[in-house]
Amino acid sequence: MHKDVTIDKHAHKALTIVLALDENWYSFAPLLASLEKNADVLRLTDVVICKTLKEYMMEIRRRGNLYDKILVLLSFFTTQISEITLIFRETNLMRRHLNENILLICGGPHPSGDPIKTLKLGADVVVRGEGEYILPPLLRAIIIGEPLRESLRNIAEVICIDNSNKFVISPSVMVNLDEVSPYSSKWNLHPPIEISRGCPFGCKYCEVSYIFGKKMRHRSVDSIERIAKHYIARGLTDLRFISSNSFAYGSRNGVRPNPQKVIKLLRRLHALNGEKRIFFGTFPSEVRPDFVMPELVDAVVKYCNNRKIAVGAQSGSERVLRAIGRGHDVDCVYSAVDIIRERGLIPVVDVIFGLPPESPEDQMATLDLVKNLISSGAEVRVHYFMPLAGTPYAYATPKPLLDAVRKELRRLTGSGKVRGAWELQERISWYLVRWREHTSSEGVNGGAHTEQVTISFHESKRNA
Ligand code: SF4
Repeated sequence: MHKDVTIDKHAHKALTIVLALDENWYSFAPLLASLEKNADVLRLTDVVICKTLKEYMMEIRRRGNLYDKILVLLSFFTTQISEITLIFRETNLMRRHLNENILLICGGPHPSGDPIKTLKLGADVVVRGEGEYILPPLLRAIIIGEPLRESLRNIAEVICIDNSNKFVISPSVMVNLDEVSPYSSKWNLHPPIEISRGCPFGCKYCEVSYIFGKKMRHRSVDSIERIAKHYIARGLTDLRFISSNSFAYGSRNGVRPNPQKVIKLLRRLHALNGEKRIFFGTFPSEVRPDFVMPELVDAVVKYCNNRKIAVGAQSGSERVLRAIGRGHDVDCVYSAVDIIRERGLIPVVDVIFGLPPESPEDQMATLDLVKNLISSGAEVRVHYFMPLAGTPYAYATPKPLLDAVRKELRRLTGSGKVRGAWELQERISWYLVRWREHTSSEGVNGGAHTEQVTISFHESKRNA
């Protein structure tokens, strides 16, 4: 298992291609930021960002033969598996015809959750979880041919799989958010500001706790303020935030809110000079219903510009909520919606159909919740369960939609009363089930599935 931890001893000049697809570019900003701080690594490699498979292939055709080694960084969700399969297949062809030294280094939710299958699919290295501390020394080691285990000894465990030249790297040190930047000036990537990471709840369908851990970590108010100032100075007027649960910001354990800390953060951001708009508790993050408190919504009304707050309800069935480990009940959802509405904001509530423990009665209960929420003035976003790698439900089977539920959801979607890509997600979900069965029965084969089912970031379910 631990035979060889050196990838190649003969590289002199490298090209690093960051394959940042639309859905994944947020995750590359902090990685590139950490690279940006390591001038010694940047001296060893040219770096280029490609946004599509086509751009990536053109880049390798154009100048692939000028380099001894090409390192390709790829991050992806389980929901992108069909698109990623194509990328792996094209990479194999390019290895054969253009440059045999193309190395695929994969990270992000799916590779973290299923590293071995990702290697079998065609990756050379999988980095599980957080990559900010790992990426610079990893690239340096690969380019100059240092043993990986030696180079990463204080920050990660390196395992060589089956005596091959394939590696799984698991960080052994948790990232301190104040030590890393969420944006990269050099590559002009300024995603929403990540204010917290990790989640203690471990809902069985969600990847967050299984990738980043159950300990919730927060970026300090001072650090967020500094970053916000930088964004405003760059002319980025909309300040948005990434968190597993925005109203849990500052919470010591992530289980109980710390309203003073949230209010302090929003007050400080509001007081910043310059043209800006603050969006908190809404896209791209949301809040748990049990964290919706009058004083927190009042703070959003006072200091922020959003007219909506997004809340994760997930199911209208008490039984399902218990089974998926949500840690709140249905009444809690109604209370959260009331608190938000009474303060003049619009609640946007997420629900998921097709969860593995769902019975026909549970499905009807969720439909009732959807209708009640619509009647109370809330907006509803409907999702369909997708089995994501690394979660307790990675190998679970979705529950099919009842005909009556499908019909009603179509009617509500058609009349604009519910939103959400539930039908696309349903197709992706069953595609994943077939892909899973195929890859476990016949070994992983990049060529077997060509059906294209992808989902855009904006349609994806975002936590909480
Ligand atoms: S769904 Fe939300 S609350 Fe549950 S584990 Fe994911 S981020 Fe945490």
